[in-house]
Amino acid sequence: MKCCVLDCETTAENVVEKTKPEAITVSFHDFPSDTNTRNLWLKSLCIKDPLPEDAKICSLHFLDDELQHKDGITKISDGAIPITLQFCTMCLDSQNMLYSMTKYKLEDIYKHLTGKPVFTYKHMKPAVCMTCLESLVDMNKFRLMGLKSRAILAQFGM
Ligand SMILES: [Zn+2]
Ligand SMILES: [Zn+2]
Repeated sequence: MKCCVLDCETTAENVVEKTKPEAITVSFHDFPSDTNTRNLWLKSLCIKDPLPEDAKICSLHFLDDELQHKDGITKISDGAIPITLQFCTMCLDSQNMLYSMTKYKLEDIYKHLTGKPVFTYKHMKPAVCMTCLESLVDMNKFRLMGLKSRAILAQFGM
């Protein structure tokens, strides 16, 4: 089984090595049969019908908040539109599951770190890999600790 998105190298065989133990497993999905949704997907992915009947798309073209996991089965949320290349805003990784920066409220943390707003392009939603997500959260804790200490010191007129 291979993902039919151009330049995507996800196959059933290499899914395992792409998937870190703590991360969500990469899964394969059918294209929607509903014409409207199907056309939105095809347009976003720059591909055209007719697709092979068994055409599949891998979950790396969606963010974690567009996928629903239940009983070991992954479903795509209604209204989710895949994009060709989803990558991590911090390290540019595109080979692992990516997490919505909005969902984890990481946009402000990113801004504090880089001094710039989150990079966005067309309908791409800002996303990060698990490693960068953890780093951003840790960095924010570190920053808040500094601010808290500063407030304590200020009380002593230092
Ligand atoms: Zn893919
Ligand atoms: Zn990253």
